Amino acid sequence: MSLQTTLARPVAYTDIGLHSGQPVSLELKPALADSGIVFCRVDLPEKPMVKAEANNVTSTMRATTLESGQAKVFTVEHLMAALYVMGVDNCIVEMSSAEAPVGDGSALPFVRLIEQAGIVELAKPRNILTVEEVVEVSDNGRSIRIEPFDGVKVSFTSCNEHPLLGQQVAEYEVSPDVFIREIAPARTIGFMHEVNALKAQGLALGGSLENTLVYDETTHLNTPRFPDELVRHKILDVLGDLALLGRPLRGHIIAVQSGHSLNTALAAKLWHSVHSEKKGVDVSVGCE
Ligand SMILES: [Zn+2]
Repeated sequence: MSLQTTLARPVAYTDIGLHSGQPVSLELKPALADSGIVFCRVDLPEKPMVKAEANNVTSTMRATTLESGQAKVFTVEHLMAALYVMGVDNCIVEMSSAEAPVGDGSALPFVRLIEQAGIVELAKPRNILTVEEVVEVSDNGRSIRIEPFDGVKVSFTSCNEHPLLGQQVAEYEVSPDVFIREIAPARTIGFMHEVNALKAQGLALGGSLENTLVYDETTHLNTPRFPDELVRHKILDVLGDLALLGRPLRGHIIAVQSGHSLNTALAAKLWHSVHSEKKGVDVSVGCE
C-alpha cells in the first residue's frame, strides 16, 4: 500500500511572476493527509484559500488560473507538476501575491525546493486513480486523451511553424528521476513577434531571457537546454495541469497540440468522474 505524503518541513522561495512581473514570496508547508495541494493568499484579509483542483480552474489564457471566492492564483502549472511528479500529495502553498514565481521558466527551482524540504509519509493510504477506459477531449485538431497503462506515460506531438521548431514528438514514462533529468528543466518558450501583443494584454510583463527560451524570426536568442525543449515543456505543462485531478494518476496520456485549456478540460472530466462517485466528502485544511 502506498501512503500519502507531505513535506518534512517548510521551505521558501522569492521571485517575480512571469505574466504580472509582480514580486511574490512562496512558502511550501507541510499539510495533513487528505488536504491535497491548497494555495493560500497570505497577502489578503482572512488569507483565503483555493484548492488545486480542476473544478477551481477559471482561466487558461497562457497559464492556468485557480479561483475560489477571494482566493485567486495563476501560473501554477510548473509548481503543480513538480509537486505531482515528486510525489507530494498534501501541501499548503502560501503566496504573497496572485502569480506563482517564474524562476527560470522551468519546474527545476520547485524540484530543488521540494528536495530541500524532504518528503515524509502520512498514516493514510493514497487514492490513486487508475484509468480503466479511454477518456478524451479534443478541439479543432488538438486533442488529449488518457488510456489504461500500468504506470504514468506521456506522449506529446507539437507542431510549430518556426524553422527551428517544426514538428516535435516526445514520449516519457514518468518517474521522479526521468522528470528531473528530461522534463523539469525545459523552459517556457516565447517568440519576439508575440512580445508586444502579450504585453498589451498585460501578459509576459516579467518575461526575460532569464526565464524564457526566446526565438526571433530565424533563431533563438538564448541557448536551448534541449533540441526539443518545446515539446518537453509541453509535457511539463500537461503534468502540471493533470495534477489538478488532486490524486495520483495511472495511465498513458497522449496529446497532440494541446495546451492549458484542453489539459485542464481533461483533468476536469476525470475529476468529475471521481467526485460523482463520492459525494459529501469534506476536507479540512489550515493555513497560518
Ligand atoms: Zn509552462
